[in-house]
Amino acid sequence: MKTLLVCEYREGKLLDSTYELLVFADRLGAERAMVLIGSDAAPPAWDGTVYLADAATCGEYNPDVHKRIILDAARRAEADCIVFLHSSYGWDLAPRVAAALRAGQVSEIVDVVDNGFVVGCCNAKMRRTVTPKSGKTVLTIQAGAFSFQGPTQGTPRLERIEVEGAASLQEFAGYEPAEKKDVDLTRAEVIVSAGRGVGKKENIPVIETLAKALGGELGASRPVVDAGWLEHSHQVGTTGQTVAPRLYVACGISGAIQHLAGMKKSGFIVAINKDKDAPIGEVADVLVVADVMQFVPAFSARVQK
Ligand SMILES: Cc1cc2nc3c(=O)[nH]c(=O)nc-3n(C[C@H](O)[C@H](O)[C@H](O)COP(=O)(O)OP(=O)(O)OC[C@H]3O[C@@H](n4cnc5c(N)ncnc54)[C@H](O)[C@@H]3O)c2cc1C
Repeated sequence: MKTLLVCEYREGKLLDSTYELLVFADRLGAERAMVLIGSDAAPPAWDGTVYLADAATCGEYNPDVHKRIILDAARRAEADCIVFLHSSYGWDLAPRVAAALRAGQVSEIVDVVDNGFVVGCCNAKMRRTVTPKSGKTVLTIQAGAFSFQGPTQGTPRLERIEVEGAASLQEFAGYEPAEKKDVDLTRAEVIVSAGRGVGKKENIPVIETLAKALGGELGASRPVVDAGWLEHSHQVGTTGQTVAPRLYVACGISGAIQHLAGMKKSGFIVAINKDKDAPIGEVADVLVVADVMQFVPAFSARVQK
């Protein structure tokens, strides 16, 4: 199988999430090429072919132009499979490319199994495995599901794509920065999350102290966010962020499926819960059966020593 990986590039910078595409292609055991579009794009260190479109006309996102470039790169790479991140860029572009190629599309892939791709459905209450039929396929992968340990090495073989006659139905007007998030959980190596079992807003600093002691970030379940104890940028789960840290510590979190969907790819999971039968125990490597407000301060003190 030959894959074409569609890099993400914004305001002069290759997004780190692009590297997750490499991990995904490795899981497929597929031959890989990349396409990188940007007016001053610098390709990643990598031993492979990079199709580079660097005309000033396509420096910022323009779906018609980007679609044409990706189709050209796919033709040159003889790709059977074109892979995007499941980001706002991927959501917009992948169906356009699939329609142009009359290809099947599988979106928001969270895992690869022998007989196909695993995607979440029914608000992550269920997972479904999709087996594409032969022919071209367009895929999008969920951010954080194929975490990258980096860095990459090598010298890319560059093949330029000329962007001529770049007529488009749209014109790029500009970026407006979104409300600044105070935390990016998708990049964190350690996350300590507070759940409803923490009891009240005044107890959140106890969890935050453990997060800091472990050099990590502070996460939360949805009720904690809904109650206004923490900002939404801390929320882990289907309506929050999907994370895959090396260590995830769940404090007073029951393990509802919507929470698990966002964190069960973590490397090592420690759960602290007073209920020994809490569902989080099914995914936890270690379940500490204790009152979170007694255990966590003692744990932090030990880590800080
Ligand atoms: C469409 C939809 C989307 C959703 N999206 C998300 C999402 O993105 N993220 C998310 O987290 N949820 C989400 N939810 C909510 C989800 O269904 C659960 O309600 C939520 O995850 C429960 O949060 P919790 O585990 O903190 O609270 P609870 O389920 O109330 O669990 C609290 C846990 O703390 C334990 N506990 C209580 N006191 C203590 C103590 N003193 N010491 C130790 N343990 C204690 C209890 O035994 C219990 O297991 C969503 C729901 C829907 C319907």
